[in-house]
Amino acid sequence: MSEGRYDAIIVGAGFSGLYALHRLRGLGLSVRVLEAGGGIGGTWYWNRYPGARCDIESVDYSYSFDDELQQEWTWSERYPAQPELQRYLEHVADRFDLRRDIQLDTHVTQARYDEVASRWLIDTQDGTSFSACYCVMATGMLSVLKRPDFPGLDDFEGEWFHTARWPQDGADLAGKRVGIVGTGSTGIQAATTIAEQAEHLFVFQRTPNYSLPAQNRPLPGEEAEAIKSNYGERRRQARESFIGVPSQLAEAAAVEATEQERAQAFETRWQQGGLNLMSAFNDLLTNAEANEHAAEFVRSKIRATVKDAAVAERLQPRGYAIGTKRLCVDTGYFEIFNRDNVSLVDVREAPIKAITPRGVRTADTEYELDVLVFATGFDAMTGALLSIDVRGRGGESLRAKWAAGQRTYLGLATAGFPNLFIVTGPGSPSVLSNMVLSIEQHVEWIADCVAHLRAGGMTSIEATQEAEDSWVAHVAQVADYTLHGAANSWYNGANIPGKPRVYMPYIGGVGEYRKICDGVAARGYEGFLLETTRETTEAAA
Ligand code: FAD
Ligand code: NAP
Repeated sequence: MSEGRYDAIIVGAGFSGLYALHRLRGLGLSVRVLEAGGGIGGTWYWNRYPGARCDIESVDYSYSFDDELQQEWTWSERYPAQPELQRYLEHVADRFDLRRDIQLDTHVTQARYDEVASRWLIDTQDGTSFSACYCVMATGMLSVLKRPDFPGLDDFEGEWFHTARWPQDGADLAGKRVGIVGTGSTGIQAATTIAEQAEHLFVFQRTPNYSLPAQNRPLPGEEAEAIKSNYGERRRQARESFIGVPSQLAEAAAVEATEQERAQAFETRWQQGGLNLMSAFNDLLTNAEANEHAAEFVRSKIRATVKDAAVAERLQPRGYAIGTKRLCVDTGYFEIFNRDNVSLVDVREAPIKAITPRGVRTADTEYELDVLVFATGFDAMTGALLSIDVRGRGGESLRAKWAAGQRTYLGLATAGFPNLFIVTGPGSPSVLSNMVLSIEQHVEWIADCVAHLRAGGMTSIEATQEAEDSWVAHVAQVADYTLHGAANSWYNGANIPGKPRVYMPYIGGVGEYRKICDGVAARGYEGFLLETTRETTEAAA
C-alpha cells in the first residue's frame, strides 16, 4: 500500500518533529509527520507518571522561533509539570496549524534510500509506504524505554507500569503498597509524588544519585513579564552558553578557592536551584579534586536532610563524579525518607532476584506489593534510530554501521545515508543541553540546508567519510578531556547490556557547537558531498 510522495517525511511529533514540520512547510515543501503515538508531544505525551516535570526552566525550555508565541504563552511555574508542557505543545500544534500534516498511530519500521531516484522509501507497521526526498529522524533521544526483564514479571498479580508508558488516564495508587525500581531523574520525581499517594512506598535503589533541589515555585506575572520584555537577550545568552541556558559558568577554579569560598559558591547555586550548582566553578567536570568538593557538598546536604543516619548513608552517591551521570533535580526527594510510609531498599547490597506473584524478592526478603513501577530508563540516543531498519547507499544497514558505536558528522548526518537528517543525534550536544534550544538549532540548520540544496538544484547531500571520522574522533577527544570519559552512564550505553561503550553526546558546549555548524554551512557545507543530477561537487574548505 502506498500512501504518497512527499518532499519530506519527518518521523516523530515531539518538540523536534513539530518544529521541523513548521520550518520545512515554510519552505514550500510537502511534508508528512509519522508518529507512533496516539497524540503529539513525544516525551511529554508518553511520560505521564506522577511528578513528571522539566528540570530546565520553562522560560528557557520552550520555543524561541516565534516572538508572538513566546509573548502570548505564560508558564505557571518555574519548572512546570507534564500536563502543562503537553498543553503547550498542543497549543503550538494548533497555533501553527500543524495537525493536518501529522499522522498519528503510525510506527515507522523501515527507511530505504533509493539511489536511482534519490528518494527515501519509508514503510510503516501497518503496511503503508511513503516516499520523500528528505527523511528527518525526529525520533527522540529518550523515547525507547528499557523494558524490565526481571524473571517472574509475567506472574506478578498486581499492576505494573513503566514510567514512560504510564496509562493515559492515570493510575490510582491511593491506599496501595507500591514499589518503584530506579532512582534516576524519573524515579526520583515519581517517588517524591507517589510517597504522598501510596499507603507504603518501597524505593528499590541500586545506585544512589546526586540530586539537586529545583527550588520550584510559581512564576509570578510580573517576573514573567520582565523576562518577556527582554526575551531576545535571554535567548541570545542561552544560545552562546555551554548548556543552553542563560546561567553563567563562573571563571574561578574550585581547586584554587578557599574552603569558605567554595562553601559559599556552592550554597548560592544550591539556593538558585536546578542544575546551577555545576556552574559554581569552571573545573568541576575536568578536575577530580574539584568535582569531589561539589560531590561532598551534595552529600552533606543529604546527611543534613535525612534523619536516619543509616538511610542517609545509603542515599549518598560515591564512586563516580558528580555530573557524569545525568544530574537529577528534585522537589523534596530526600525528605520522603523521613516519612513513615517510605522505605529505602538497597538492591546493590541485596539484588532483586525475581518478581513473584506477590511482589519483589531480593537476595534477603520478599516485599509484598500491589503496584510495581519501573523507572528503569531508556535505550538512549541510538535506541529509536536503530529500532528502524535504516538502509542507505548500496543497502547498507545503519544497525551494521553503528554496531561498534554510533558514527555521525555533527550528530546531524551519517556517511552513506544521503538526505537523512537526525535531530539532536549522537555526536551533538543534545542530551547534555537544554534540548529545546538544541532542537531549534538543528531544525534551523536542516531547513537552511534543504533551502540551499533546492536553490542550487541539488538532489542530495551526504557527509563524507573523512568528515565523519574526524568528527567522531573530536567528540571522543573532548569527552576524554572531562571526567565523563571514565564514568558509566546511559551517556555511553552502560545501562544497556551489550550496547557498545561509546560516549554519545558532544560535550564541547552548545555555543561552540553552533559556531562549528554555522561555519560548516557558511563554507558551502564543508565535509558534505552535494550532488546534482549531472555532477557531484565536494564542498571543500
Ligand atoms: P521526543 O519527544 O522523544 O519525540 C520523539 C517522537 O518520535 C516520540 O513521540 C516517538 O513516539 C516518535 N517515534 C520514535 N520512533 C518512531 C518510529 N519508529 N515511528 C514513529 N514514531 C516514532 N530535556 C530537557 O532539556 N529538559 C528537561 O527538563 C527534560 N525533561 C525530560 C523528562 C523526561 C521524563 C524525559 C524522558 C526526557 C526529558 N528531556 C528533557 C529530554 C526530552 O526528551 C527532550 O527535551 C525533548 O522533549 C525531545 O523532543 P524530541 O521531539 O526530539 O523527541
Ligand atoms: P536512568 O537515569 O537511566 O535511571 C534508571 C534507573 O533505573 C537507575 O537508577 C538504574 O540504576 C535503575 N535500574 C535500571 N535497571 C535496573 C535493574 N535491573 N535493577 C535495579 N535498578 C535498575 O533513567 P530515567 O530516570 O528515566 O532518566 C533518563 C533521562 O531522562 C534522565 O537522565 C534525563 O535526561 C531525562 N529525564 C529528565 C527528567 C527531568 O527532571 N526533567 C525527568 C525524567 C527523565 P543504575 O544507576 O544502578 O543502573
